[in-house]
Amino acid sequence: MRTLITGGAGFIGSHLCERFLTEGHDVVCLDNFITGNPLNIQHLHGNPRFTFLRHNISNPVEIDGPIDNILHFASPASPVDYLRHPIPTLKVGSLGTHNTLGLAKAKNASFLLASTSEVYGDPEKHPQKEDYWGNVNPIGIRGVYDEAKRFAEAMTMAYHRSHGINTHIVRIFNTYGPRMRLDDGRVVPNLMGQALRGEPLTVYGDGGQTRSFCFVSDLVDGIFRLLHADFHEPVNLGNPNEVSILDFAKEILSLSGSKSQIDFKPLPQDDPKVRRPDITRARTLLGWEPKVDRHEGMKRTLEFFRGALG
Ligand code: UDP
Repeated sequence: MRTLITGGAGFIGSHLCERFLTEGHDVVCLDNFITGNPLNIQHLHGNPRFTFLRHNISNPVEIDGPIDNILHFASPASPVDYLRHPIPTLKVGSLGTHNTLGLAKAKNASFLLASTSEVYGDPEKHPQKEDYWGNVNPIGIRGVYDEAKRFAEAMTMAYHRSHGINTHIVRIFNTYGPRMRLDDGRVVPNLMGQALRGEPLTVYGDGGQTRSFCFVSDLVDGIFRLLHADFHEPVNLGNPNEVSILDFAKEILSLSGSKSQIDFKPLPQDDPKVRRPDITRARTLLGWEPKVDRHEGMKRTLEFFRGALG
């Protein structure tokens, strides 16, 4: 098996590279480092089954030899990153998805698209099931990511229906763990970094908005299972254990032993008020559910950030 992972030097991508190598696959990792980090894959370069290609997948790509699986994970993925790179975000979701699907067709490879809970926008249904169509502001600041991923899902289904490609779509809910970038702007690295540096924790709005955090090893396990399932419609993967952002900030203070204060800041535009996956489909189809409980995952992540801060 030879597996191509776009965005393979990113947070989730690099964990996928490791997992597929462990499963005995040859892995071709493609990244342009717009938000990925060479350090995430540094330890893999000595492995003869690992190849790295520096390339922007929004431009056409040719790859020699057979490819059995393509996992399209390249994209800025945190609100701060996609606000910083709005046009590359739109391009990688549209042109990048077209290019990777074209490659899947040429190589007769299975395909898996990294989609997102952002396709549900600021949801009016709670928890979110896969048959909910979402509530997205197309011209808001998050639209560049949300609409790119919605387009990517449409393109993936079209390649499945028109060309018979064996495609899969995972809708990834908030995921955290080692190798997140301390400066990616998301709530986990922001608040953990602040707690460890003894700075005030920035909680946006009143902190009453909710998220449900999945540890990265659980997510990667679900993705591996989904790639091998005979199922083509989207599947939510995430941890249904929901928490308000204010309570999450307090948990970080208590787990890190930090004496930091909480500093309330304005809520960004279109920030979803609630988010929790309904994972019935993943449970039934893949026999999957998250195993790492939030406090355990948070401790491991705090350890990683402690190391990263030196
Ligand atoms: N958030 C916060 N403080 C921060 C960063 C984020 O209160 O320093 C909030 C943000 O407003 C949102 C939630 O935490 O309600 C999750 O934000 P994140 O950027 O991690 O991703 P999202 O789930 O919004 O895509």
